[in-house]
Amino acid sequence: MSLNFQLEAQEGLARAGRMVLPHGLVETPVFMPVGTVATVKAVPQDVLEELGAQIILGNTYHLYLRPGYEQVRILGGLHRFMSWDRPMLTDSGGFQVFSLSDLRKLTEDGVTFRSHLDGSSHFFSPERSMEIQIALGADIIMAFDECTEHPAERSRAKQSMELTLRWASRSKTYFEEHKAEVPWRKVSSFEFQVSTESKHCHPETRNPKLETGVQSLFGIVQGGMYPDLRKECAERLVEMNFPGYAIGGLSVGEPRDLTYEVVNATVPHLPQNKPRYLMGVGTPDEIVEYVAQGVDMMDCVLPTRAARHGLLFTSHGKLNIKGARYALDEGPIDPNCGCKVCSRYSRAYLRHLYAANELLAQVLNTIHNLAFYLDTMRAVRQSILLGDFSRFHSEFRSRGLNSPAHT
Ligand SMILES: [Zn+2]
Repeated sequence: MSLNFQLEAQEGLARAGRMVLPHGLVETPVFMPVGTVATVKAVPQDVLEELGAQIILGNTYHLYLRPGYEQVRILGGLHRFMSWDRPMLTDSGGFQVFSLSDLRKLTEDGVTFRSHLDGSSHFFSPERSMEIQIALGADIIMAFDECTEHPAERSRAKQSMELTLRWASRSKTYFEEHKAEVPWRKVSSFEFQVSTESKHCHPETRNPKLETGVQSLFGIVQGGMYPDLRKECAERLVEMNFPGYAIGGLSVGEPRDLTYEVVNATVPHLPQNKPRYLMGVGTPDEIVEYVAQGVDMMDCVLPTRAARHGLLFTSHGKLNIKGARYALDEGPIDPNCGCKVCSRYSRAYLRHLYAANELLAQVLNTIHNLAFYLDTMRAVRQSILLGDFSRFHSEFRSRGLNSPAHT
């Protein structure tokens, strides 16, 4: 078995569910912190566990370049390499190839690109992306897609969508033939017994039955900003029968209203009984909004990246810790936040750390921002379970504190 997804409650389009993966349970809707190169920047794994991160994301493009997927495979896969026993997801590498690298050539076969690190030449195809993602061994992996640029003419978006569909089919074929090669499948039951007793392991989050499970390959809906293309792409992917579906190609510079419109036009064409993952969004306001539209999973670099720049999310809106007005402020970042940073440190101290360019500033700021996102999503989930989501949603919306307009 790869993935078992059960809906527990629904209110409007919003859903609360449970997803069982080879490395444990994920309660949805869920926010996934981004751990680009096998680390959520500035936060050790034990702190991520304390914060209640249920699943984290790794970036295939970055991990392929450094340390390299063969190295990770030899070391038993990403979970073992980074000592993270809970579920993980990797992206296909497509988005970064198109956004970060010097793109040399796109053909039917795949993409030749130059590394943003040293300019060396590399080639990604659906088969290669699957080979890398199987070696990394995340619980959920993504089909190789072309992230359509914005703006794109309809004909261009259509052509790009057709390529993504052909690549999805090739990704699935390769995955089906090679899925037994995932490194943790080779972990014997004896080894598992030993590892669950070690201090690095968290037996309550592990499910020995599923050590013999397989990864889940999700399809990605593209189609630019054209609702009819999104519908067509979703329907044709659903025919290929993936265990879950992602909505890609958004948050690529389009206005937020358009993102909402495209998500709205896509979700109704995805199956009720499978998880829906919206890639690369958003602010705290936006994640609540997308749950209201029927999305189950989200990831974004915003809480971690903003934290490293001193930008903190709070229940009263955004706060820039650099501000001189905090120099003598003994209050916490957010009086309504129960995180270990807010319960211990003052704004004055955090401002000092940031101004002095101390490493601890990045650590503490990131812990608070992740706590804020994860707590927000837990509150959203709880409100759906209690049948109270529409009130929660309108209250959150009327505050409008963390929306892009306030950036
Ligand atoms: Zn806090």
